[in-house]
Parts: sequence; C-alpha cells; structure tokens
Amino acid sequence: VTRRTPKQYNWAKAEFDETLLTKHFRAKKSRKIKFIVIHHMTIVGKGTGAANDACYKTWQTRKASAHYGIDGEFVRQFVWDKDVAWATGSNSGNSYGISIEHANSEAAPRWTISSTSLATSARLTARLHYLHKLGRPRSGVTLKRHRDFKATECPGPYLVGRWSAYVSECQKQYDIIAGVSPAPNPAPTPKVRYRVTAAELNGRTGPGMGFPVKVVRKRGSQFSSSKQSGNWVQATKYWYHISHLETVAPPRPTPKPQRLTLGTLNIPLDSAKIENGSARAKIAARQVKDAGISILAVQELDRGADASAHVFATQLLGALGSGWAVVKPTTKWNENYIFYRMASVKYVTRKSDLILTSSAGGRHATRAVFSLAGREFTVFSTHLVSGAATKAREDQGRQLAAHGSASTFILGDLNQKAIPPALLKGYKSARAVQPVGSLSRYGTFASWKRTSASTGATSFLDHILVPMKIPVIGANVVGVQADGKLTQPRASDHLLVVATVEV
Ligand SMILES: [Zn+2]
Repeated sequence: VTRRTPKQYNWAKAEFDETLLTKHFRAKKSRKIKFIVIHHMTIVGKGTGAANDACYKTWQTRKASAHYGIDGEFVRQFVWDKDVAWATGSNSGNSYGISIEHANSEAAPRWTISSTSLATSARLTARLHYLHKLGRPRSGVTLKRHRDFKATECPGPYLVGRWSAYVSECQKQYDIIAGVSPAPNPAPTPKVRYRVTAAELNGRTGPGMGFPVKVVRKRGSQFSSSKQSGNWVQATKYWYHISHLETVAPPRPTPKPQRLTLGTLNIPLDSAKIENGSARAKIAARQVKDAGISILAVQELDRGADASAHVFATQLLGALGSGWAVVKPTTKWNENYIFYRMASVKYVTRKSDLILTSSAGGRHATRAVFSLAGREFTVFSTHLVSGAATKAREDQGRQLAAHGSASTFILGDLNQKAIPPALLKGYKSARAVQPVGSLSRYGTFASWKRTSASTGATSFLDHILVPMKIPVIGANVVGVQADGKLTQPRASDHLLVVATVEV
C-alpha cells in the first residue's frame, strides 16, 4: 500500500493513491477483464480527495466496494484490478468489470460531476482499456454504466446526459495512449425523401429495367433514400426510377424532450397556524430558486373566508421576486396555488378549479396549462382531506384521476403516504421512483412544534405524481439541514418536494 499525491502518480503503470480494502471484495489470483463500469458516489466532493476517504469509510461497514474512486485530480485504488469488487449488484458486472466511482459536485436531483473529475476519469478509463487490452473504448461493450447491469440511477442523471461526450473523451485519451489517430468517419450521405407521382411505380431488385419487379408503390406513397445509382434510387431493398418521383420536405422531427423541475410545498404563512410568515416565505423562496424549480404548487396559503384576498400568496410571490407569476384559485375555500417562473415555462391557460367532494368534506384542485418547447402539459395543485379519512381520499383520488391525462402532473398534499388507488393506475410518485440520498430518509411532514424533520415513513404526505410514461430524472426533499434540523425558523409543517421530469 502506497500513498501518493497526484504528482507522484505513475499513469503508465496505473499506480495511484492506495487505501486498499481488507474486506467486501473477492480476492483472485487473476481474472478476465472485459469492461469498465462507471458509477457515481452520491457523495459530494470538492475535488480534494476527501470523497475517496468517505467511500473507503462507507465500505468498512457496507458490504460493497469498487476498484477506484475519483474526486477531481485524485485517483484512489481500493481494490486491485485482478480482484472482484462488489460494485454492480450483478455477477457478470462484478466478475468481468473494473468499477470506478466518481464524486459528485452537486447533490440530488442533478448529481453533477465536475469537469476535472470527468477529465481524470477519461484518462483513467483509457489507461485501463490500454493496460487490459480492451481496445478502443466502445460504449456498452467495453465501457458501461452501472445502470446497464441493474435498475439504478447510477451513474446519475448528469453523467447519463453527457454519456456520449464522455465516451468520446475516453476514446480521445485512448488514441493518445495507443499512439494512433483514428480514421475520420466518412460523412453520411444525406437522406432524401421522395413521393411517387405515377399511379403505380415498380420497385426492382436492381438499378435498371432488366431487374425483376418485386413490389409496386401507389401514387402518394413516400420513402426516404440515401442511395442513388444513375437515375435509380433505393429504398430498403428495392430500386425505383426517379422520373416518377418528386422530392418532398422531410417530416418534421418531433420536439426533443425538455427537462422541467416541479415543486410542491404546503406552507401556511398566516399566523393562525404558524407565525413568522414573511420570514418563512423568504426561506421557502430561496429554496425554490436554489432547486431550479419552474413550477411550484403551494397549499394552505390563503385559507378560509379571507382566502379571496390572496394576502399570503402575494407575500410569497414578493419573496420569489420579479420573474414569477401565480395562478390563484377562483373558488371559495380553495387554498391551492400554482407559482411559475415566466422565463422557464410558458403559461397557456387555466382550467376551472375542481371541487373534490367527499363524505369527509370537500377539497379543491387548482389547474393550469403550461408549455415548454412546444409541448403542453397540465399541472394540478391539490390538498386532499386529512385525518383517517381513507375512503374520502380515495373518492377524491378518483375525481382527480377522471380529470387527469398522460400529460398531467398532480402536485400537492395527499395527506397520506399511499397514492389513492385510482391515481396509482396512471401515476407514480416522483419520490418513490428515486429513493436516493436524503430523499429516502425524510418524510415531508414534521410534527407540530418539532424542530427536526421526521424520518418516519408515515409522514410522507406531499407528492409529485408523474404520469407513468414520463421519465423522472431525479427528486429530493428540501428543508432539512445535515444535522436533521429544519431550515425554517420553527417547525414548518411540511418540506419542499422537488422533482425533475421530462416533458
Ligand atoms: Zn453504481
């Protein structure tokens, strides 16, 4: 075991700083290495190497390990390459892979990794490819992500989003080591789209009248082709004469999915429930902005007979600052609001407030339609009945489900951990999908006058319900300090729930 500073690393021999584990791996004399597996630590590091120490410490008790850790310029070896690390939750991933952990530069939901760490990583990955004779890094073949082996977010949304750039950098580093410069890729021939102008057009097995006819295309039929020979173009297998074709504009590509960060917060600012309203509004506004939220559902803001004055909604809007707007409820007793950042989403229209009747009392949902890069979606802000009124909440869930759709997000206080059965069919809770980091530890409801957050699962009241087919990139709960204390000056009764989705 040799401790080394980055200046003392021997890259040619892959000799770095070493703190070798004595347990939680399988020692081997030698083994066949087929690929490198990329992970993120879910430990935030500042590029000082401390995150590697944190990993080492974690694995003293947790039955897990990896071969390397990277934190900025610092590379740490925990398990020798010839030994099997317990890193992937998969037999083949562990047996044939070398696992590299990366410190995060920012926690959930983004789980960023610094550019320094990624540059160090590309160099290490390339070197390991060279030393273990894996050839030039190939994505999915010699260079894999933890999520390629099991259902996990690892290596996190940030790196997953930059995967192809990362692979390219590994290849570039490999080419430098291997002393080759790769042949440039030939530019692909652009595809041209054609429409048949004759009543019927023969498709032949080759580019000439002498080839047999195998298919006939009708007038108006369209296809794309990038292959031409003389006056003939090929589509899939067959060749067509261009005198009976006209070119058409290619179909418009469907807009790329855009990321959107949603938040939900139950924050009574009026002193009837908890005082210090304006101070708490400022803290909440800062947390909303820090989390990068574009649309925020808020409940219990202005309640009861005075709700129509929207006094506390105006206060929160002021704390959020210019650039934000609010969709206010219009129905009496409705205490649900939707705040949005005008620069990041386009407000389209509102829908009428829903009145959610039940035997245990009525509640509401405020609804608005937004768009992002040409895609429209609807957001509900709601708050279901409280107490043990399970049946009543199920009734209200049915009413919400009846108004929902595959492009509807339901945000709010469901007053229970479980999602009403009717909603469960079409929606998932963003929190349930991504139980990472602090997320898995905290409920959203802190009991009255408590100063620290509850880790009890029963206090899991606030949800961001996402249609089944919409990917959740990450989620988190905001408002708890590292020591478990609440960030609000006194027990705010709910925490801010944040989720990043694709629309
Ligand atoms: Zn992993």
